[in-house]
Amino acid sequence: MMILGTTSAGRGEKDTGRLNVGETRDGSPIGLPVAVINGSRSGKTLYIQAASDGNELNGVGVVQRLVPQLDPERLSGTILIVGIVNYHGFQVAEHRNPIDDRKINRTYPGSERGSSSERVAHATFEAAARADLVLDLHQGSTSRMIDETRVRCGPRHRLRDECLELAKAFDCGYVLDRKGPSGQLARVAPNEGIPTIDPELGGCKGWDEESIRKGVDGVFNILKYYDFLESHVSLEPQTRATGFDQYAAPAGGLVSFEKNLGDPVFAGETLFTMATPFGEPKDEVTADGDGIFWRARRLPQAATGEYVCSVGTGISHY
Ligand SMILES: [Zn+2]
Repeated sequence: MMILGTTSAGRGEKDTGRLNVGETRDGSPIGLPVAVINGSRSGKTLYIQAASDGNELNGVGVVQRLVPQLDPERLSGTILIVGIVNYHGFQVAEHRNPIDDRKINRTYPGSERGSSSERVAHATFEAAARADLVLDLHQGSTSRMIDETRVRCGPRHRLRDECLELAKAFDCGYVLDRKGPSGQLARVAPNEGIPTIDPELGGCKGWDEESIRKGVDGVFNILKYYDFLESHVSLEPQTRATGFDQYAAPAGGLVSFEKNLGDPVFAGETLFTMATPFGEPKDEVTADGDGIFWRARRLPQAATGEYVCSVGTGISHY
């Protein structure tokens, strides 16, 4: 019998329920929505979570489309899912947890007696620590961003190759291979010997169907590659970046991009121009170095010094 919160699923069964993480301000219980898919045959355990940032909804879209397609009779091993991690942020579509104004993905492995975010991190980390593989579904918040997968344990970590392999199996096509800030699930879980990735499924307000489809395909690829499902999958080469050059507006005004997401960038090329509301040119920003056009602000207006776009750097393929 596999149990997660109020769910319990025997061999060949699926169940959904709640994982208790305390109470709301009015004393109602907070139960994160959870699902367990217990395969009819033994195998590995995969843990998936979504919306640790409360406005990053593509991962919720992935889970919502994925679970009905999973047939426990055909599955080897177990899948544990927390569908919405940032309970309070999700209610109000905010990135951070409004109860303690923290980003949950800086509080792993959490604390049983800590702040609201630390308690959520603790409860979800306990679930993640039961797994052999972990997927923490994110996106580039509401900015526009390519679909990519992040490996956050750092280049010298003993699990780095296994994390890179997991990212390759997820097959977004792009991988960021860079040590993450402390408190990230994808940085902390590898210390427990669990290969972990942080898929960043595009960036949008609400849902982006294309990014969600890539996420669902990515999970199925992993299920096939790690023998949860009886089907062969071959790994495809990924384009890897190891850092970012970030560009800000040199003046206030309206931004026009000269590059599309995923475009190669060469040093000296124009990334974007700025103009007044009347179309009078104000400034132009060129690339400091080579890379790939990775992320861009969504709103056209920007003040002096405000973030405009990022170029992925240190590009290689693996
Ligand atoms: Zn995120």
